[in-house]
Amino acid sequence: MKTGATKGEVDAVVQRARSLGLDIQFNLGTDKTVLAMLGSNTGQLPTETFAVLPGVEKVARIMKPYKLAAREFKPTDSVVSIDGINIGDKRIVVMAGPCAVESEEQLAAVAIAVKKAGACILRGGAFKPRTSPFSFQGLEKAGLELLAQVRKESDIPVVTEVVDPHDVDLVAEYADILQVGARNMQNYALLTEIGKRKCPVVLKRGLSATVTEWLTAADYLLAEGNNQVILCERGIRTFEDSTRFSLDISSIPVIKKSSHLPLIVDPSHAAGHYSLVPSMAKAVVAAGADGLLIEVHPNPKEALVDGLQSLTPSDFYRLMQELKLIAKSIGRYI
Ligand code: PEP
Ligand code: MN
Repeated sequence: MKTGATKGEVDAVVQRARSLGLDIQFNLGTDKTVLAMLGSNTGQLPTETFAVLPGVEKVARIMKPYKLAAREFKPTDSVVSIDGINIGDKRIVVMAGPCAVESEEQLAAVAIAVKKAGACILRGGAFKPRTSPFSFQGLEKAGLELLAQVRKESDIPVVTEVVDPHDVDLVAEYADILQVGARNMQNYALLTEIGKRKCPVVLKRGLSATVTEWLTAADYLLAEGNNQVILCERGIRTFEDSTRFSLDISSIPVIKKSSHLPLIVDPSHAAGHYSLVPSMAKAVVAAGADGLLIEVHPNPKEALVDGLQSLTPSDFYRLMQELKLIAKSIGRYI
């Protein structure tokens, strides 16, 4: 309450809280009265309920806005299993492949290369959320068919992005894991649809989202009963312009402390340049990420999307050798 708030004003706040079924704790200081409101459903009450009352200085939430994604809700680490591959366990799961599915030759070549290097999930976008409507938007359904074909031929599960809530069933028919891109982290209709489908999902962090907003978005998936949620850090917007995005490595320990969900990291979109990807990938494995999402293209110079940040198969192979050593040194494996 504001300094000098009257007894009548304090009583009115208390009365309002009690009428909503909340318990009150009084903290009477020499200048100020602080009221703590306790109840199981405070998350559903907007802070404005009290902020508008006369004499109130500030209303602050103590409880985190996310619930189901919180470690308090589930103290043990969640593990998402895809075809016997456990994400969130001892193994560092590497997902690799091109930004976009471009052709059968491209996808088949990359699948063989990344599998040989030790990646166990193939990535490739069929629906691309592009900043400009005039950029290549992906092969769409034909891209999904190529993913399904290569998945079968190379015996490797696939992850691919879905951008439209109406396409969730279609994409889920072809892919083992759905990806929600950074630009869709707060597309609640999309999250709800994927939540209902209850299939494995990679939820990327929004370009300008806080960890709290990201975990609260994960609650949309979990609230529908989908507990196969994998978080993916991919860098955030800052004032720094020497990389495409700033890779927030601190989100790894922060997420590990605040949430039970497995966390992978995409160093490719954060780096924006192939030469930076290996260092960033090594750093995140050392920092405790459960996996990586890395762009690899058989011929990056010819890539239709994100060629500059894509590794060649040989660079990827070399990186994987180094990552295996780091994983081993921290008691994990690839
Ligand atoms: C992608 O993975 O190709 C992609 C578009 O990533 P992001 O949503 O993180 O930008
Ligand atoms: Mn990309």
